[in-house]
Amino acid sequence: MEYDYLLVGHGIAGAVLGYELRRRGRRVLIYDNPRADAASRVAAGLMNPVAGKRFALTWRAHDTLPYALNFYRALGQELGEAFLQEVPILKVFGSAEEQRQLLARADTATATGTPDPWQGFVQAIDPRPIERPGLLAPLGGVWLQGGGHLRVESLLAVLAQQGRAEGWLREETFDWAGLVADDAGGASYMPGGVRAAQVVCCQGAAALNCPYFNWLPLTPNRGAVLDVAVTNLSGAQVLNRGAYVVPGAAEGQFRVGATYRWPPFAPAETLGPGNDDERELTNRLAALTDQPFAVLGERRGVRPAVRDRRPLLGRHPQLPWLSLFGGFGSKGVSLAPRLAALLADHLASPSAALWPEASLARYAHLYTETPAK
Ligand SMILES: Cc1cc2nc3c(=O)[nH]c(=O)nc-3n(C[C@H](O)[C@H](O)[C@H](O)COP(=O)(O)OP(=O)(O)OC[C@H]3O[C@@H](n4cnc5c(N)ncnc54)[C@H](O)[C@@H]3O)c2cc1C
Repeated sequence: MEYDYLLVGHGIAGAVLGYELRRRGRRVLIYDNPRADAASRVAAGLMNPVAGKRFALTWRAHDTLPYALNFYRALGQELGEAFLQEVPILKVFGSAEEQRQLLARADTATATGTPDPWQGFVQAIDPRPIERPGLLAPLGGVWLQGGGHLRVESLLAVLAQQGRAEGWLREETFDWAGLVADDAGGASYMPGGVRAAQVVCCQGAAALNCPYFNWLPLTPNRGAVLDVAVTNLSGAQVLNRGAYVVPGAAEGQFRVGATYRWPPFAPAETLGPGNDDERELTNRLAALTDQPFAVLGERRGVRPAVRDRRPLLGRHPQLPWLSLFGGFGSKGVSLAPRLAALLADHLASPSAALWPEASLARYAHLYTETPAK
């Protein structure tokens, strides 16, 4: 069988890129070994325009977030299910100092006539206690708009069902040793009896083990989330203070995340009930609600993190038929749609430039030898 694109991986990156290519009329085949612990299946799906201790706008928020919301809205309409929840995000103040600094920053911008530091993503700063069922926010907080959350695991399951029915998804492990470049400028995957003009690695953190891209500064970062039941907590918004609390599909259920752990990772036998991740997340949840809660489950996944905290996409330095779409760290959900469109443009026409901060060409100096074909 002959394809335009062969993608390896159907996490959020491969799923979004595959959809983008299919809607451009390309013949696409995707290999995916659907592991329950793939980052995308564990992710809370949060798309947050302003994050971190410094309360800074996320990288290219204006270029990526409205695009992502449109993309997932349209995809949900096409698939007949609303995976995207466009709810506000309430960043709850943790201290009077945090509150004071934020108000001062907003006041300075207004007084000096300088541009809004949050470019419209901050809807309101409320320094009074916020009254919502079950919520602890005595110092108020900041209401964010233009973000939301996506039910990633459900979306991937529905797309995979479509892929099985339409024949564009093979739920098997892809073995890079079976890939052979050909004289016509593409490559054949011998075990699958297929040929493609272009091959794209969308393996998430597993790209570390791809022999063609293992020279890139990709690092695994393990994270955990908890699924919890809280009877009387308002689910009308995402809550954020240290951890985020994202409303689940069922009333009274929430996903609380996330922890960040760098290698060497704690061994499996230390990850039972009461483990460090669970304690960290339950403590953070207890700071946000005065209601009792029950932990329903804990999930772990590995993020594909990059040294400079920007994604990695583009063509291999020496093999024009081979590309990477990854390095999404903790932001795959919001970044994948816009970057998939850029990569699809670039693969169709190399003169269509990638954003330099995200192009893997920024690390070309680390590439020293031709890997095994
Ligand atoms: C605990 C946690 C919470 C998170 N919360 C959020 C959040 O709220 N918002 C957000 O934007 N991001 C979040 N993230 C980050 C987000 O999950 C990642 O940025 C994103 O999922 C990366 O997607 P990916 O498709 O690149 O990789 P993955 O999700 O890892 O998908 C890669 C896929 O490729 C498959 N694969 C790998 N190797 C092979 C092979 N050889 N053959 C076949 N298939 C293969 C894997 O099985 C997997 O299905 C979170 C991550 C974690 C761990």
